[in-house]
Amino acid sequence: MGNSGIKKRLDYLWSALIRNRARDCCEKCGAYGVQAHHIYSRRIECIRWSLLNGIALCPRCHTQSSVFSAHLTPDLFMEWLEQDRPQELEELRDIKRLNEKLYLGDLELLEKKFKIIHNTPCF
Ligand SMILES: [Zn+2]
Repeated sequence: MGNSGIKKRLDYLWSALIRNRARDCCEKCGAYGVQAHHIYSRRIECIRWSLLNGIALCPRCHTQSSVFSAHLTPDLFMEWLEQDRPQELEELRDIKRLNEKLYLGDLELLEKKFKIIHNTPCF
């Protein structure tokens, strides 16, 4: 498996961008202190680093609550997302459907873009 170094850096930057975008507050309940969640699995590489595919969730809403959390009640979670951000989800599904392969050049461009966003306050 090549490109693992840049993929790790992209994972790190993606997570930081998702959390910063939400100002470290849960996008479901508003609690402070969040983790970045992939809406569709990160195994789907064409959307692994899409900012549309990320949401900041507190540990309860991410993995812990059996009443509502992305990991324990995925159907409820997707239902809520459909209500909360229908357009973004549609756009995300369009990108997912295209299933384009990412090459090293694409990853390098993405890393440059992420670094610029990361260093820009209030993106
Ligand atoms: Zn929460």
